Formats: sequence, C-alpha cells, structure tokens
Amino acid sequence: MTKFSDLALDPRVLQAISDAGYETPTPIQAQAIPHALEGRDVLGIAQTGTGKTASFTLPMITILGKGRARARMPRSLVLAPTRELAAQVAENFDTYAKHTKLTKALLIGGVSFGEQDKLIDRGVDVLIATPGRLLDHFERGKLLLTGVQIMVVDEADRMLDMGFIPDIERIFQLTPFTRQTLFFSATMAPEIERITNTFLTNPAKIEVARQATASTTITQGLVAFTPSRKDRSFVEKRAVLRQLINDEGETCTNAIVFCNRKMDVDVVAKSLKSHGFNAAPIHGDLEQSQRTKTLDAFRDGSLHILVASDVAARGLDIPAVSHIFNFDVPSHPEDYIHRIGRTGRAGRMGKAFTISVPSDGKYLSAIESLVKMEIPRVALPEGMDLANAGTDRPREERSSRSRGKAVTGASGVAAAATASRRSTAPKPRQSRWFRPRPVDAPAAPVEETRAKPREDRRGGRERREGSEDRREVRDERRTGRERRDERRDDRGNGGGSVMGMGDHMPDFLLRSFKIEAPAKDEAEEETPATGTEA
Ligand code: AMP
Repeated sequence: MTKFSDLALDPRVLQAISDAGYETPTPIQAQAIPHALEGRDVLGIAQTGTGKTASFTLPMITILGKGRARARMPRSLVLAPTRELAAQVAENFDTYAKHTKLTKALLIGGVSFGEQDKLIDRGVDVLIATPGRLLDHFERGKLLLTGVQIMVVDEADRMLDMGFIPDIERIFQLTPFTRQTLFFSATMAPEIERITNTFLTNPAKIEVARQATASTTITQGLVAFTPSRKDRSFVEKRAVLRQLINDEGETCTNAIVFCNRKMDVDVVAKSLKSHGFNAAPIHGDLEQSQRTKTLDAFRDGSLHILVASDVAARGLDIPAVSHIFNFDVPSHPEDYIHRIGRTGRAGRMGKAFTISVPSDGKYLSAIESLVKMEIPRVALPEGMDLANAGTDRPREERSSRSRGKAVTGASGVAAAATASRRSTAPKPRQSRWFRPRPVDAPAAPVEETRAKPREDRRGGRERREGSEDRREVRDERRTGRERRDERRDDRGNGGGSVMGMGDHMPDFLLRSFKIEAPAKDEAEEETPATGTEA
C-alpha cells in the first residue's frame, strides 16, 4: 500500500500530514499526487469525502515551496463554487502548509474588498476564490492572473449547476496556457467534458468510486406516506420528521435535514426549533457571517440539527454526522448521493432517512435507478396522527386565540421562542435525544439574520453569487396557492379547520380516510405552543 512518504512530497508537507494524523493516502491522493507533482494536468472524477482536497493541496504546496510570491500576481488559483467550500479549501491549506512560509488569500463574497485587496497587493502564493468574486477583483484592476502556474477547479459539476461555466472559461483564458490544471468533478456532464477537452492538456484521468455505492456504512430508509390531504403535505412531513428524529433517540448525535427549497429550509428549521429541537438553517441567502457561525456551531457540537439546502451543504466537510434526513426527495438524483454521503464517513456508521409523498414517485425512481437499489421502506412511526399533525398549539388555546381571548396557558419546550408571551408549561413527550433549550438561552443564531447592505451586493455577479444556486431559485417557484395553503396550515388555523365550521369542528371531520387516527393526537400532545411558523 502506498504511504505518504512514498509520494515525493515536501518534507514540511509530510510533517504537516503526520501532525494531522493521516498515515495512508486515500485512493484519489495516491493516484493524483504523483501526476500533479510531475506537472501533469489531472482530471479527477471524485466526490467530496474521498480526500480530493488534499489530493491537490499537497502537491501544490510542494511545487510552490520552490518560488516566491509577487505583488498582485498569485502563483496559483483554486476555484470553488461556494464560499463554504472555498473556506474549507483555505483551511486545508492552513493545515498542510503550516511548516512553510506560503501565503494565501481567500476571495469570497461577504468579506470586504479592502482586506482582500491588501493581501493581493502584498502578493500571495495561493489564491482561493469563488468565480464571481475573483472576476470582480480582476475587473477592478487589482489582480493579474498571468502569473498563475497551477489552477484548480473544484466541484466543477456544481459550478455547472450554478451557471459558473462561462466565468470558468473566462478565468481559464486569463491565465497562461502553460499553466498546470487540476480539475475535479463528481460527474462528467457533456458540458464539463467540453471544458476539460478545451482547457486541459493530456490529463491523467483518475476516477474513484462513487460514495453511495462505496459506503456500506450508511443505513438508508424511506418513509413513504400519503398525506391526509394534498395541501397538508408540508405540515405532515414536518410531523413525520420530528417523530423520526425522536425515534432515533440518543443514536442521533447530530443531523442534517435537507430541503429542496431555501424557503422550506427556514420554515423547517423554525418549526423544529419551536418544537424544542436545537436546529438552525443554512442556505445561500443568509449572511456569510451567519452561515459561518451556524456551521461552526454544528461542527463544535453546540448545534445538533442543521437544516440545509443542497448548495449550502454540498462538499462541506463535517466528519461525524450521525443522521441525514431528507425532508424532501431531491429532484436531482445525484443530490441524494451527496446528501447521504454527509454521514457514514471515515468508516463511521450513519443513517439516512428520506421522507416521501406520492408526488415524489418520479424522483424516487430516478434515485433508485442511480443507486441501483430499492431504498428500504420504513413504516411510519407508530401512533402518528397525521390528520392533526399541523397543530402547533393545544386545541383549547387555538380556539381561544381565534376568538380573540387573551392566552395564559402555554407550552414548555418552545419557551425560548415564546417566553415573553407564555409562562406555564404542559409536559411534552420527549425522546432521550430531545434537548429543550433553556428559557434564557439565546435563540439559535438564525434569528439574528437580517438583510443589511452588503459590500458584495454591488456587482451583478456578486448578487448572483449571493443567491447561490439558480436551480434553488427555480425550485422555489411554487404555486402561490400551494404556498398559501401551507402557510395557513402552518399557522395552525387551517390545519385543523374546515371552512364554515368556525372553532367547533367535530374531531371526526378532521380525520384522514387513509390513516387511522388514534383517539388523541399524539403529535399534538407533545407539541409545544408556538408562535406563527410561516
Ligand atoms: P475531502 O474529500 O477533501 O472533503 O476530504 C474528506 C475528509 O477526509 C476530510 O476530513 C479530510 O481531512 C480527510 N482526509 C483527507 N485525507 C485523508 C487521509 N489520507 N486519511 C484520512 N483522512 C483523510
């Protein structure tokens, strides 16, 4: 088996690898590093989690160790599709270049141009950037790309999804044609193939196994159910999600919940929080500082549930995630692989649950044909009464509120969110894992998010980078009616009501014909009082 010491890396790099506790290179590292050190172009078809970042970082540090940085002319360039990924690459450089004097700059949106300009002016060996921000610096005349000897394109398939390919082509053209190119993509779409044919010279092609087929440490499960009413799908999925998390008990040490749309990320996170779960959202529309804070909290274990969009979580290196919950079946089958690949890493065990409703059938088939297996079906958590799942407040309270009376009684677990309005607490049913937030604890960081003018809002391209993923935006275009119906349910006054019946709805009218409702809604009993969710 190849060892790092067999790889002709700079001794200072070997020392840093050993400091980091790594002994043997991963397959992509063992195969890519020798070619990269020879100065050859590399085309790596590999996903995150395979060790691909080090497969380009280690040879780059070794090669760059021999020269010196010049003002405004970076010697190497790494392009990543999102700020988080770029920041992650920068962290890798910090780790592996710590015994060298190499300098780096990270050019991402949400950080002031001034600071970044200063670094570039001084001269950097490694420039790590998102494509939009890099071109903004270039257009401001602050940056010359003619000194780039090594250029890395990371997660090219995601660049394609995000519409960055024209930018990438332009950046390629701004760098010398003699440069060495290290190009990584999880898949080889025709457009990606075209780019590699145009800009790479006789690359060493290295392909490592797909994560989903390689990782046998992930237990997958699919909870397929039919909502009691079509327009209650969103509400009932949230109830299923809560129940699934609770049922996993203490084995669920931390989890990422994936939603297809940014706006659902916010609502699901808020809903989980209001039910006493320690959850926060992350998606492309949040302020960069907020995103960083949330990710740091998830990494250090102080945040247990990260509710995420695909773009925000793609490629993020969070080593020990015990559970993945797909709140939505992803509409792009490869996203399923990326999502579940966030767990079961480095030989650890992981579980990935997907919640699906009948309208997901087409997407589900695409996923199952991609992963070449049927995802094992998991029964709906026992005793779930979906017909009443959307009620976030005890029934009496809803009635009195809707009649305009003052509310005095209340719930406990959502107390942090509603403490100012409510004081006493009914007993929620709690799983062992369930950790109610103390009343005086600060609310999860997302609450602080607000729109404030950002420096990176200046340019059109930056605006695009801020909105991150065109696909997400497209996915967000739901019918107004669908959203309105959901909002009504979220408020709890549509979930358990029928037009014209006022507050005195007989229970039997609310029951589903498909799922037999137990006498008392368990979900409702455990449900804390909340404010409006939507
Ligand atoms: P990446 O695919 O670059 O996101 O890396 C995934 C994870 O693997 C990161 O946590 C790395 O720190 C880790 N890693 C990278 N190289 C090795 C290695 N040779 N042995 C063990 N873990 C590694």
